[in-house]
Amino acid sequence: MRKVYLDHAATTPVRQEVLDAMMHVFKEVYGNPSSIHQFGRPARKLMEEAREKVAKAINADPKEIVFTGSGTEADNIAIVGGARANKKKGNHLITTVVEHHAVLDAFKALEKEGFEVTYLPVDAEGRISVEDFKNALRDDTVLVSIMHGNNEVGTIMPIEEIGATCRERKILFHTDAVQTVGKIPVDVKAINCDFLALSGHKIYGPKGIGVLYMRRGVRTQPLYFGGGQERKLRPGTENVANIVGLSVAIELAVAEMAEESARLSVLRDKLIDGILNNIEETRLNGPREGRLPHNVNVSIEYIEGEALLLSCDMKGFAASSGSACTSGSLDPSHVLMAMGLTHTTAHGSLRLSLGKSTSEEDIDYVIEQLKPIADRLRAMSPVWEKFQKGLPIT
Ligand SMILES: *Cc1c(COP(=O)(O)O)cnc(C)c1O
Repeated sequence: MRKVYLDHAATTPVRQEVLDAMMHVFKEVYGNPSSIHQFGRPARKLMEEAREKVAKAINADPKEIVFTGSGTEADNIAIVGGARANKKKGNHLITTVVEHHAVLDAFKALEKEGFEVTYLPVDAEGRISVEDFKNALRDDTVLVSIMHGNNEVGTIMPIEEIGATCRERKILFHTDAVQTVGKIPVDVKAINCDFLALSGHKIYGPKGIGVLYMRRGVRTQPLYFGGGQERKLRPGTENVANIVGLSVAIELAVAEMAEESARLSVLRDKLIDGILNNIEETRLNGPREGRLPHNVNVSIEYIEGEALLLSCDMKGFAASSGSACTSGSLDPSHVLMAMGLTHTTAHGSLRLSLGKSTSEEDIDYVIEQLKPIADRLRAMSPVWEKFQKGLPIT
């Protein structure tokens, strides 16, 4: 049976070039980068070269790059640290209802500390309105966090406009760019952000490594204490192998971006059209235009997402319903609900995220397999039966 991995938004396999670079560190460069002897110095050198590569990939200065333990941690240092460090200036924060939990839960924690948070709504395609954002701004607004590209439905947010407004009003602006790095251009100067988070394992690098971009002169606070590493913002002995791995991954991702994103966009559209045309009562979640090149999210109405995923898995293709973090719970995705989907429609959603290994044959295979899966599950679905009889569905 064909094995098709279509969950690249959840994680990606480590590419060979990254593995080779990391293997070299594990085998040959095991010194502590803080040690000044002949074993420590090469580790320090590799780490600083990695910092330069990452900086170059997002148009930053190497001094503005902080290595963290994950994308989640980078989001937290920016948001929680940034809000706490600037508390004297004001108490109001702004984000959106469709953020990743790494961002949403950080704001929830800040609310418990007494901060006031405005959660911007989104339209039916998952996009915030710049006007809503401007109306939410207050004199005591100190920090804004709006994701670059959504991990569930692929919507790209208008962050350049948000960034420009924040810069003008001297409000800190953070963006979670975990899903966009290597897919669409990410330039910290064009975005006008003060903080930006990215992650290694979404770009064919290792898991457990992230980057916080922090604009020169901007203040935040560490969440851990214990050493001087990463300018005291992320103390703990540096994970040199992961840092080197991430730097190779981001360098290659950016170099290959134009060609690979164009290829993925064609496959993405073929998959969307194939599903919508072949299976009745399906809908696309997220926009047609302004969508991440690797993201497909559809609702196959009157089917349970969990059953759908299991059937896909039995046919050899791996997908996800909602996001990997939320499947496991029975609540429908907060992103789809915020876009105005009903419970039943949100429950029948399927995210298929494409990547380097995805071929046109894979896409044909999935389109061909999904129709009989949908037919079989609907034949067992009481809601489908109601729909067919024209009865009301709750
Ligand atoms: C995966 C992801 C994260 C979390 O990154 P980790 O490195 O897994 O902690 C944060 N935000 C978005 C949008 C993501 O897709």
